Amino acid sequence: MASEPRIHVLPDLLIKKIAAGEIVERPASVVKELVENAIDAGATRISVAIEDGGKQLIRVTDDGYGMSPAELTLSVAPHATSKIAAEDDLFAISTLGFRGEALASISSVSRLRIVSRPADSIEGAEVRMEGDHLEACQAAGCPPGTTIEVRDLFFNVPARRKFLKARSTEVGHINEQLSRLSLAKPNIGFELTNNGRTTLNVPAAATMLERIAKCYSAELASDLLCISRDERNLRIDAYAAPPARSRATAQWQYLFVNGRYVRDRFVQHAIKEAYRGLMEPNRHAVIFLFLTIDPRNVDVNVHPTKIEVRWADSNLIHSQVLSALREAFQQADLSPVLRTNRAAQPIDPAKQDEIRREMAEMLKATPPIQSGVHADVGAGVAGTASSTGLGRTSTAPLDVGEGEQIWQRLYGNRSIVPGSGGGEPSDALSRGVTDDPRMSEAASPPLSEHVIKPRAVQMHNLYLVVETEDGIVIVDQHALHERVIYEQLRARMTVGALEAQRLLLPESLTVTARQAALLEANGPLLERLGIEVSPFGADSVAIHTFPALLKDTDVAPFMRDLLDRLAQQSGETSSDEVVNDVLSMMACKAAVKAGDSLTPDEIDALVSQRHLTDKSTSCPHGRPTMLRFTKADLNRQFKRT
Ligand code: ADP
Ligand code: MG
Repeated sequence: MASEPRIHVLPDLLIKKIAAGEIVERPASVVKELVENAIDAGATRISVAIEDGGKQLIRVTDDGYGMSPAELTLSVAPHATSKIAAEDDLFAISTLGFRGEALASISSVSRLRIVSRPADSIEGAEVRMEGDHLEACQAAGCPPGTTIEVRDLFFNVPARRKFLKARSTEVGHINEQLSRLSLAKPNIGFELTNNGRTTLNVPAAATMLERIAKCYSAELASDLLCISRDERNLRIDAYAAPPARSRATAQWQYLFVNGRYVRDRFVQHAIKEAYRGLMEPNRHAVIFLFLTIDPRNVDVNVHPTKIEVRWADSNLIHSQVLSALREAFQQADLSPVLRTNRAAQPIDPAKQDEIRREMAEMLKATPPIQSGVHADVGAGVAGTASSTGLGRTSTAPLDVGEGEQIWQRLYGNRSIVPGSGGGEPSDALSRGVTDDPRMSEAASPPLSEHVIKPRAVQMHNLYLVVETEDGIVIVDQHALHERVIYEQLRARMTVGALEAQRLLLPESLTVTARQAALLEANGPLLERLGIEVSPFGADSVAIHTFPALLKDTDVAPFMRDLLDRLAQQSGETSSDEVVNDVLSMMACKAAVKAGDSLTPDEIDALVSQRHLTDKSTSCPHGRPTMLRFTKADLNRQFKRT
């Protein structure tokens, strides 16, 4: 019994109103469109199989309501959809799709095959399409539901194919898309198979926390604060991480509106405001936020990939999100929990023995430990220097050994001590760093400041006030130190890899499939930074060496920030930009902080390097490192002329 097909071609006028645009950018966009269709078809289980990073094959199978033969043929026609019929429907969209464009676009740039069977039919049907050519629909045996296969993506658009990234990068994007989709629909089971190997398998979950645990980490899920509120026709369900889990980028902020992953600046701003005062301003909270709102109050037809929305009342959204989070934070105890590196990742006791064994194997294969171990394990010089670099208050005279420590703390493992007869610190620094002529040029201080040894005073544990021959300079200690280290790192990188320190015990780090792919894709960069990483179990990696300069920095949080940075890089970012970005992050972490009390010698050592920043008096983040006041300026201000 053939019923009326549910699919129809939209009237021209309506088509024009629909924001058009490229939707197929890469394999991950195909995965997104196909999985969204499966979700719209009421599937309870969705399997995705890919080969060669999706370039060769993407296959999505669902157990949804399927398509009749007539619907199958229509489904690949441009602007054919079963999800909206008239213009008014555009203003109250409750499905993920509605434009009827995806299958048509995908079929025009790949070899497409769809097999489908509605639950009430005894047999299924199949269509194939290659470029513009549609083969006649044929009967096919298949279970109820739909399978869509996309082969040889961009086979007929060579320019596009060329722009696809390494397989691991494309797999990373696919993983991220699937994680978002599976967070949006915790009641659906998802599976991803990559070249025959299952890399993600999440059963239909009872709760959102279970889903987050499966897609990200159980440890993160157990730390989340669950918040919900239903007021003024807006339902908010938030899973907010404590401030101590903040990240270097906002990429761990997941926003879903009526089950669709979107990005929205009003919500981002509300999140930032809610966490204000609880974390450093340049950090970003980790949060999973689900908004449910009457579809008439949100327009999803704004962006070709529907990643943005327009609110009927953006103030309401902002204020409701902000107050829901704020109230919850006020009630909760958000004081950071102190953990050691290793305790940060509780391990399933069943796995512990196995891990211990693997660690032992790895250690056997590890070259002997070099002088100076990681601060965490505490020995030698690194152990006696303050392990955090914070809170040194001693002003007692220093012996040479202590001076060495200061030097190391400020400038890494150099062997020349400032102010102890070892010569001009500035020369020492530049000589130790590199033979790069640009650096030695930078290393000769301007004459006017060369002749007098700087006399500097620390104020508010933050500003260093320095007397110069022709006035005074006020230095931001963190900004200057950061800049100095940044220049030093850049110079070193021009001559080779950064100095690495082997960790006494490799540090294990839980990673998502996307992060694992990023680590693989950025292998050469990591090597240059002095970071040696190897796979370790199904969802972890082991870190064996770490930049010597970062000996006081916790490995796991640093790696997480680094991964966030790498994930943010797009195809257009040049490798130089990536390196600079990472170096500025390293410099920021290694530098003394605002609030650190410095000894007079530390102050002198730091201030004597300020000429290094003369080329650009700002820190790598663009803030000024120092302010200068000439005597003439001051005289003018005091009307001494
Ligand atoms: P849209 O999702 O915007 O409607 P698509 O081009 O993605 O447009 O799909 C066209 C139509 O094909 C859909 O409206 C739906 O009726 C049908 N369709 C696509 N995929 C499936 C599927 N997995 N199961 C059932 N129907 C599907
Ligand atoms: Mg669709």
